Amino acid sequence: MESREAWIQLNRESEEALFVPSGMLRVQPTDELGALERETLANMERDGFRETQFVKSDEKDRNRASSLGWYHKLLNFQIPEKEDQKCFDAVLDTLGGFTNCSAACFFYHKLAVSLGVNFVFGRQEGRVLRFVEEPSSIDEARKKVVGLRTKDGKTHAADVVVVAAGSFSTQLLPCLSYHIESSAGSTVIFKVDPSNKALWDKYSPENFPVITWKSAARDKDGKDMGSIYVFPRTEHGLIKIGYRGIKVFRSFISATQVMADRAALRKFTNFEKAPEGVPFTQDGQWSVPLPYHDCKAVPPRAREAIRTFVSIFLPEFANEAFHTTKLCWYTDTLDNSFLIDYVPQYAENSVFVCTGGSGHGAKFLPVLGQVRQRAPQIHVEEHSRLLLQHAADIFENLNDAKSHMREHWKWRDSAPRRNGLEEGPDGPRNIGNGSMN
Ligand SMILES: Cc1cc2nc3c(=O)[nH]c(=O)nc-3n(C[C@H](O)[C@H](O)[C@H](O)COP(=O)(O)OP(=O)(O)OC[C@H]3O[C@@H](n4cnc5c(N)ncnc54)[C@H](O)[C@@H]3O)c2cc1C
Repeated sequence: MESREAWIQLNRESEEALFVPSGMLRVQPTDELGALERETLANMERDGFRETQFVKSDEKDRNRASSLGWYHKLLNFQIPEKEDQKCFDAVLDTLGGFTNCSAACFFYHKLAVSLGVNFVFGRQEGRVLRFVEEPSSIDEARKKVVGLRTKDGKTHAADVVVVAAGSFSTQLLPCLSYHIESSAGSTVIFKVDPSNKALWDKYSPENFPVITWKSAARDKDGKDMGSIYVFPRTEHGLIKIGYRGIKVFRSFISATQVMADRAALRKFTNFEKAPEGVPFTQDGQWSVPLPYHDCKAVPPRAREAIRTFVSIFLPEFANEAFHTTKLCWYTDTLDNSFLIDYVPQYAENSVFVCTGGSGHGAKFLPVLGQVRQRAPQIHVEEHSRLLLQHAADIFENLNDAKSHMREHWKWRDSAPRRNGLEEGPDGPRNIGNGSMN
């Protein structure tokens, strides 16, 4: 909620909408609410947000939705192969929506430039190859990092190096290998032409919510359809669909456990032989992103699940070719919390790491390292008087940081191996083991 408020505020400051509050429809696996949904609604009730949620099968909620102008987003989708023409139940979350991430990054880029930050972009100039290390004058056991070397051969001196390279972070900082795993999510895009007014309007954020859906049963070939989501079309006419999943079948697990399993099993890994000196490996391997050019196709399993989803939820596209397909790389930690801390392997707090988005990092963009004063009033010399939040607070104040997230985001060598990271190269998600099929 803290982050949502910040997005709404950003919309007031930005020329274009960075957060689109289209609402999000959580379509259920059947015509009834699932166990996870019931638990979600109970949590919403407990936290005072129940009035923002609208259950399609609940008459009172339907009436409320109608009087508040949300009824048209409580969409009906018929359950396939059911002769009684029943529809999936669904819950509309009116707090939900989607963010325009590239525009938000550009917004913050401009803000940083206005504050004097110098960016170095380019495949040669902007690509960090390694750290420049020196013995520490106060700590004989550990090296100190004093800068970095880029692919164009240049050395950039630094007081502190901050590594925020997403799922590539382990390749710059191999001591992260215990803590994070790269895993791939499958995305496809359809394109709508504005001249097709019926489709353009139907899938607009004004008329179409974000939709998530998890299928109830295996398909007729016994394959798992997993969990899938779709966003309303963008202003450029792009409709993005993402596949997240291989389902776990266990008969007596709680809704919370289902959620944890779903997070763990929704993505593909790519295990490769780890280079010399990587401190933690599984059978001598580690999971790293595939090269860019190998990320243009999505695995057949994802493609099939998306096609089934499209036939139910976006029937006009059932026979349309995908405009683009892509594997995108998550950075998963052992517990889905960020990893934001100084790196203990280096002396004099010379390396700071900020990674581990675990599939939900983007939504925190406006608050992750927030400075609580609006940009135009900030002068660099006033920096120390500003109220720093979360990552910025931890960076500046370390153990004196006031952020309540400090404990959760610490470097955590003693965290148990779980969240799917315990599977290793023999696990069911490894692309090298045939998960692509
Ligand atoms: C399919 C998919 C769906 C997602 N859905 C959601 C969602 O619904 N909600 C949500 O909140 N989050 C979502 N996420 C997660 C979110 O995208 C990430 O948490 C977020 O992008 C992490 O930001 P980051 O800056 O840590 O890493 P990244 O966004 O991965 O950025 C890392 C940057 O480092 C650069 N880099 C890497 N190596 C080097 C190098 N050697 N030298 C120089 N630069 C380098 C890369 O080019 C990249 O620009 C999703 C992620 C995926 C993959």
